[in-house]
Amino acid sequence: MIDPPAGSVLDTVGRTPLVSVQAAPDAVPVYAKLESFNPGASVKDRIGRYMLERMLERGDVSPGGTVVEPTAGNTGIGIAVAAGQLDIEAVFVVPERFSVEKQQLMAALGAEVINTPTSEGMGGAIERAHELAEELDDAVVPQQFSNPLNTEAHYETTAPEVYEALDGEVGAVVAGCGTAGTLMGLARYARERDPDTYVCAVEPEGSLYATTKGVESEEAEYKTEGIGTHDPTTNELFEPELVDEVLQISDRDAHDELKRLAREEGHLVASSSGAASVAALGVAERIEADEIDAPHDSVVTVFPDSSERYLSKGIYRSFEAWED
Ligand code: PMP
Repeated sequence: MIDPPAGSVLDTVGRTPLVSVQAAPDAVPVYAKLESFNPGASVKDRIGRYMLERMLERGDVSPGGTVVEPTAGNTGIGIAVAAGQLDIEAVFVVPERFSVEKQQLMAALGAEVINTPTSEGMGGAIERAHELAEELDDAVVPQQFSNPLNTEAHYETTAPEVYEALDGEVGAVVAGCGTAGTLMGLARYARERDPDTYVCAVEPEGSLYATTKGVESEEAEYKTEGIGTHDPTTNELFEPELVDEVLQISDRDAHDELKRLAREEGHLVASSSGAASVAALGVAERIEADEIDAPHDSVVTVFPDSSERYLSKGIYRSFEAWED
């Protein structure tokens, strides 16, 4: 059934398609939630809308006020879409290295973009965002890395959509972790439905989420964008006790897979989707081989955004020519 007309793009956030990953074993299908179908073309539209609506309700910010957020990009676009429709000014602090497409889109949506040096990392951007908010009247920093509304957005929207589509038959949830809001929202919902649901976090090789599960991991740079952490103490939403396993996927495997997904399955998705797909397919194979005991023979993952956002970085060139 076709939905009736929407009042604004904000009403079109969520309710994204869930599509089979065709490379999965027949006995254990893998389903990916295609988040590039959101109006700002990423999973972060969900938290942009959800966080701002709740913060307006609570009086943390009023119409005409300002939202200031340190962001690598997609969150800025998601917040900018919502802020524009909710009469809130948006200012984003973005480390220089992140994709120029994202920064152009934030500006096109009416937001102000301030760059901080790549060498200062996300930490530098966070510090600058708080300084800016101090200087402004009626300004709020949602801080997606520590705001429980981030996880709640996925618990309230992404997870119920998945469970409705699959009649509750979800054996495992596998998702990349940047802030970890997506995975934590899914995991919390999944464990309430069935405490045995297998939960798997995905990060690039060189990232340190695995250390929270007692796995030794050597820190290194990675090209996969949007997931991973160099300091898990800053990822306050990540709850290791809700996670059975952290899977580390190499940049090369994520890159091979995002290209395969385009060529063979018609998905124009980026590196964090490639990593999620490799991990989810691996979990499906292990469920099929009885190496993982899951309550249902199915795996759900999330494809957070689209490759179009990374064409300037040569995402479809050779692995070596793909820039981080
Ligand atoms: N992939 C991409 C491309 C992202 O921008 C993000 C958000 N940083 C994620 C995955 C991870 O989502 P989350 O922050 O909910 O863990």
